[in-house]
Amino acid sequence: MFDKILIANRGEIALRVVRACREMGIRSVAVHSTADADAMHVRMADESICVGPASSTDSYLSIPSIIAACEVTGAQAIHPGYGFLSENARFVQIVEDHDLKFIGPTAKHISMMGDKITAKDTMKELGVPCVPGSDGGVPDLEAALKIGEEFGYPVIVKATAGGGGRGMKVANSAEEMKSAFPTARAEGKSNFGNDEVYIEKYLTTPRHIEIQVFGDGKGKAVHLGERDCSLQRRHQKVFEEAPGPSITPEERAKIGKTCADAVARIGYAGAGTIEFLYENGEFYFIEMNTRLQVEHPVTEGIFGVDLVREQIRVAAGLPLSFSQEDLEINGHAIEVRINAERLPNFVPCPGKITQYHAPGGLGVRVDSALYDGYKIPPYYDSLIGKLIVHGRDRTEALARLNRALGELIVDGVETTVPLFHALLQEKDIHTGEYNIHWLEKWLEAGGLDR
Ligand code: ADP
Repeated sequence: MFDKILIANRGEIALRVVRACREMGIRSVAVHSTADADAMHVRMADESICVGPASSTDSYLSIPSIIAACEVTGAQAIHPGYGFLSENARFVQIVEDHDLKFIGPTAKHISMMGDKITAKDTMKELGVPCVPGSDGGVPDLEAALKIGEEFGYPVIVKATAGGGGRGMKVANSAEEMKSAFPTARAEGKSNFGNDEVYIEKYLTTPRHIEIQVFGDGKGKAVHLGERDCSLQRRHQKVFEEAPGPSITPEERAKIGKTCADAVARIGYAGAGTIEFLYENGEFYFIEMNTRLQVEHPVTEGIFGVDLVREQIRVAAGLPLSFSQEDLEINGHAIEVRINAERLPNFVPCPGKITQYHAPGGLGVRVDSALYDGYKIPPYYDSLIGKLIVHGRDRTEALARLNRALGELIVDGVETTVPLFHALLQEKDIHTGEYNIHWLEKWLEAGGLDR
């Protein structure tokens, strides 16, 4: 096992990894930018080291600085968290070239899944059901129009290198394709340096269902059921739960096995998420994330396992600490993402926290790097915390969420907390009847004002 792990991230996820390290008796090293010198992850880690100025390009994303930080502190492995360098295959290669261990899959698997066309082709071959669409990349508008006709509108044009909801454009007609195609291309080029795009049938009422998988890197893998992350704004998740309210045990077992078998066959190591759209009882693969997800705590909640600990174990060459048979669902878990944003337009709202109080009690978990007097810097993501609740069933989890939100105090900045208070007033949230478009429609209809 490693003696010391460097965490190449910040905020709540860096803290999350520090916690796992401490329970495992592993020393943790926090890295930080000059803007984060007073951050909670720096205070909580055993050691810390500054890796550059405020701009993440020159600090959290600076590969030479991160590698140098390992050399200076004697860390043997790097946990990348999510975002930043977590899905950067070149970084993984450089880490390995320096005889350090990357806590995550191999560079090869990251590249394979990072390019969505390659990912889709691979999954198709492995027997995973995919959204109908173009066979690989679409070279020009003429070809795009042909595909639109063949599959029927609406379709969605997606950048193969896309992520975080960027590089995707819906076309409802041939007319709209004329702008959707070049726009998706341009977004792919400017955001990800790659203008290749592909086209999929646009599903109109799907849920977003993702399967958590875990491989040992030696040909064995398990699945940890699904998370339903259908409540999204601009393709960004805001509320996640497990198990999915619409998924039956039979469906879970079947799609779960398909996913576990697929990653086992490629010898995948560590945590991964296979994302699907789910409509009329069918699953359609959209992409695989080769890292820990923001919403992993809901899975931890219902299975009672520590996914970060498991990632570290697998990276150290140990076998998985649970088998498929060990994994039994217990109750229901819900996570809400608390962002420092001003409603109703979700404008980032950094600033100083004048008062912070985290809720507690049975079945409540708060993953946050906030503290009284903390100054949220304006340079990074606006996620400031995650509130996760667990109950014996969905009804209890929702009641607990309501109770915990009532206890939470975050003063000094505006947050997305009022959104969740408002959502909890909605019948559809209680019945679980929502799809990926529900939240946008509700916001447009003035849901927040009611
Ligand atoms: P990203 O990598 O940017 O997160 P994804 O491929 O995971 O992109 O898609 C993100 C979201 O976009 C999905 O959760 C869904 O809401 C929407 N989406 C993607 N593909 C389709 C599709 N074929 N039909 C309908 N919605 C889609």
